[in-house]
Amino acid sequence: MDKDKTYAIAIDGPSGAGKSSLARTAAREIGFVYVDTGAIYRTVGWAALCRGAEDAAAVAALLPETRISMDYGADGAQRMYLNGEDVSEKIRLPEVSMAASRVSALPEVRSFLLDMQRSLAEQSRVIMDGRDIGTVVLPRADVKIFLTASVEDRARRRYQELCQRGTAKDFDQLLREIEQRDYNDTHRAAAPLRPAEDAVVLDTTGNTFQQSLRQILDIIRERIAL
Ligand code: C5P
Repeated sequence: MDKDKTYAIAIDGPSGAGKSSLARTAAREIGFVYVDTGAIYRTVGWAALCRGAEDAAAVAALLPETRISMDYGADGAQRMYLNGEDVSEKIRLPEVSMAASRVSALPEVRSFLLDMQRSLAEQSRVIMDGRDIGTVVLPRADVKIFLTASVEDRARRRYQELCQRGTAKDFDQLLREIEQRDYNDTHRAAAPLRPAEDAVVLDTTGNTFQQSLRQILDIIRERIAL
């Protein structure tokens, strides 16, 4: 691996495809920093919920007074701060998922967060996951992976994740919300969710975590000599 080069790996895909846990584990394995951009959008979604900002104008008005920062704990977990307050747990509440999906459709929000995401990739070697990393944020990423799975598989994974966090939710409702978020994310005008032309599309339906991880690491190692 060229020691002076800042490599970037983009992993995009719909909700619940396993991006976060796979990207985090793969980053640890190859010594890259993992950046969860969904958490950044969730922080804006949380800010909008707290302030009762319902429409686009109200959310846009909120941005100048919204300070978002992040750091990494000893365990490598990304912690998110809103105006200095640690909101890492709150942004995982199910209602924040829909709020994040809503605010993320606004071009003002997307451009507000663009520089932050790009500068993170300039500072370190990153695996960054999200919806538009390969298409908009890091179009020159060295590796682009589009991770997907059937909607039922994704809802099942999200259900298990929420149960583990102790915030279980009705499975059918979760399924409908994932379908709704898929629709929002793929149909918005600003940076819609779609695979970059040069992305490797990986469908993980029916895979175990280890199988998907192995496939991701193989794709990375084929493109970057680590
Ligand atoms: O990945 P996660 O489910 O945490 O993301 C929450 C929401 O944030 C997504 O449904 C999507 O609408 C939005 N998002 C986005 N662009 C990104 C990351 C997340 O629009 N790069």
